[in-house]
Amino acid sequence: MNIQDFHKAIHEGESTPKQPLVFIGHGDPMNALRENDFTRALNNLGNNLVSTNKPKAVLCVSAHWLTKGTFINSAENPPTIHDFGGFPQELFDVQYPAKGSPEKASEAQQLIEGSALTQDWGLDHGAWTVLKHVFPNADIPVFQMSIDYYKSMDYHFELAAKLQSLREKGVLIVGSGNVVHNLQMSFPRFADGNTTPFDWAVEFDTWVGNCILDCNWKALTKYDTTSAGKLSVPTPDHYAPLMYVMGLAGGLEPIETLYQSVEYGGMSMRTFKIG
Ligand code: ZN
Repeated sequence: MNIQDFHKAIHEGESTPKQPLVFIGHGDPMNALRENDFTRALNNLGNNLVSTNKPKAVLCVSAHWLTKGTFINSAENPPTIHDFGGFPQELFDVQYPAKGSPEKASEAQQLIEGSALTQDWGLDHGAWTVLKHVFPNADIPVFQMSIDYYKSMDYHFELAAKLQSLREKGVLIVGSGNVVHNLQMSFPRFADGNTTPFDWAVEFDTWVGNCILDCNWKALTKYDTTSAGKLSVPTPDHYAPLMYVMGLAGGLEPIETLYQSVEYGGMSMRTFKIG
């Protein structure tokens, strides 16, 4: 195809470049208000996407929407959900006024047998605290899909693969969780002002990073076979969103680590893009 035909095809809507996949380690909700290397990495990601391949919509799979069964939010105007306590009012005042995408939500629902549309959710903090930095203008529609908390990592990995056609229709799929997320063990160390990462956190985060870069993605479903894995993923909630990226990844797609750090002792902020 020559360049004229390429432009013609784009204008006729016949060719939408495939969207990449993004996993974001969201960490502390206060990141929504910060400006640091992590938030700048998110901002760069968004700027690059907007200038090269602007998504038509974002599908976010967040660690903070756990359900029995799989639900997809089809609300036209999803509310910003402040699903936490004990943070300053300033954080509760943040709104992320992106529109929803009932049309893309419905397409996603049709791809996942047994899933259901709902309007009983909005954008939880796994979505808005990071999207606020990726797309600060909130001008790209966002819809969320829940995580069936009763299912295995293999199930999530395989379910994700069914969403592949959405990428070709301009939907950016974002998994938002944390590769290592052990708050119980991190808080005492953090309270003492000691932010040195635990050895097991670094070990597991490194293993995950190597599996991603080596395209050894299916191995990531077996996170709980080592003691480092068990300590890093004490509950599946923040790890499961990773499956929604890995299950969709293809072998020939470029992999780019956007941010990498183990903070608060036991929280990995690993953030990367595939495609
Ligand atoms: Zn979280």
